[in-house]
Amino acid sequence: MKAILFEAPGSVPICTDVELAKPRSGEIEVTITAAGVCHSDLHVVSGDWDIPTPVVLGHELSGVVSALGPGVTDLSIGDHVVLSWVPSCGTCRYCLAGRPAQCALVAQVVAPLGVLHDGTSRLSKDGHTLHHYLGVSSFAERVMVPVSGAIRVRTDAPLDVLALVGCAVATGVGAVMKTANVQPEPPTQSTAARRMPWPR
Ligand SMILES: [Zn+2]
Ligand SMILES: [Zn+2]
Repeated sequence: MKAILFEAPGSVPICTDVELAKPRSGEIEVTITAAGVCHSDLHVVSGDWDIPTPVVLGHELSGVVSALGPGVTDLSIGDHVVLSWVPSCGTCRYCLAGRPAQCALVAQVVAPLGVLHDGTSRLSKDGHTLHHYLGVSSFAERVMVPVSGAIRVRTDAPLDVLALVGCAVATGVGAVMKTANVQPEPPTQSTAARRMPWPR
């Protein structure tokens, strides 16, 4: 398949052919419909962030499930999904404490090592292992993710818009609602009046 490969710091990302292995237990393959470019991709290219290379970049996407690994029953081929780069394992102490965004696997394995949850990669080129980026690597025709990292969406929802939910909306809305703790403005007569079309 085609993918955007970043070979090493100081190089320019290139579009090239890479191999994607078959899904293993608990994994799904997703054929990508749309992928966004996030500044967290640009941080790698500009050298701000040091991650394992060579790597297939990208971490914000939507797509259609195209293959299932052994044991996957939550999703079916043809399902529309949005992917998350925080696929909580469900069993670590953070997940069990109700804080899936702090999942130990994501913090300790996926990000620094550029691999999937079992510590290995599904990406290669000419027999050489490539790294995943944030466990997603969405600048490619297909990706491999743990089933917990894929969220099924309605088939009539626009996938090019939904791709942004994978990072931009999750981090942006999360920062506003959870970190800054901004509350919805209670409806009052004056705000209701401001929302009226003008003039009438
Ligand atoms: Zn991002
Ligand atoms: Zn976890």
